[in-house]
Amino acid sequence: MPNTAPAIDSAAGVRAVRQGAAERGAVHVLQAGALTLGRAGKELADYAAMQAAGAPALTDDGSTPQDSAVMRAAMRAAAALRLPVIDHCEDFRLSKPGVMHGGAVAARLRLLGQPRAAEETIVARDIALARETGCRVHLQHLSAAGSVQMLRAARREGLPVSGEVTPHHLFLTDAAAAVYGVNAKMAPPLREESDRQALLAGVLDGTISCVATDHAPHAEAEKAAGWLEAPFGIVGLEAAVALCLTGLYHTGFLSLRRLVSLFTEGQRELLGLPVGAMTIGAVADVTVLDLDAPHCLKVAEFASRSHNCPYDGWACRGNVVGVFVGGKWTGVADRGL
Ligand SMILES: [Zn+2]
Repeated sequence: MPNTAPAIDSAAGVRAVRQGAAERGAVHVLQAGALTLGRAGKELADYAAMQAAGAPALTDDGSTPQDSAVMRAAMRAAAALRLPVIDHCEDFRLSKPGVMHGGAVAARLRLLGQPRAAEETIVARDIALARETGCRVHLQHLSAAGSVQMLRAARREGLPVSGEVTPHHLFLTDAAAAVYGVNAKMAPPLREESDRQALLAGVLDGTISCVATDHAPHAEAEKAAGWLEAPFGIVGLEAAVALCLTGLYHTGFLSLRRLVSLFTEGQRELLGLPVGAMTIGAVADVTVLDLDAPHCLKVAEFASRSHNCPYDGWACRGNVVGVFVGGKWTGVADRGL
């Protein structure tokens, strides 16, 4: 995602990340380009140049252009280059200054809430713009039941729209705010059980084609600032597979085939990447799973330097053992997984 400081909104920025990853990275890294300069939502970035530098998609993630005319122009330009637009659906005029979902829990905790409509209005807008411009649009980290409904209808209509969900929106609700404090503060917020059920139904019927973590590392001091000041987001990368094996596969909710697809095929289809194959002579880009190993999530043992995560102590069944990247084994066995 290009929502770094500074934002990755130029060919030089895309190239620098790709170079760093090629020299030092343990995994393949793809760098999306920003939709607008500085992610400010006003002027379009140079899409053709960023595409030539290797950006497979465009996004202002963390925000979306609040001006619908800017988003329309962005989608027209992206469509002309066949670049997908990855969309963080949030209308700031409706979401700010809320810090969690606007429901009974927020009222009880006396915290300012964000309505579902903050997400749903942008989902509706950008489905309409996808219809008009033909742009391939991917709706990130959906949280509200109404968004799933609109995505389902758009896909039935044959529009080039897809959507994703995070493990935290699948396995937590706004009730987590009272238990995990600021480690339950994310954008979009955790919502109610009816929303969670709608997201699960969207995963089950194929409306939602990707699981993504929306991994957002923050320093301890930042998160310690309390509900109003702490930044939005949690780290989810090292827990995602264990959580989904436990909550979606071992419960019998999804087949292993479908679960693996949510982590692989959905993303590759979006970015126009070939789907890997387990055949003789093919390059091994393979994640190796132990499906049954009991695994207790310990945030202190995460490789990430950030520990803002609500899953500490959660008991899971199954986890990643290691990965082959370009044929090279990168095990995590040394960390006892
Ligand atoms: Zn986002």
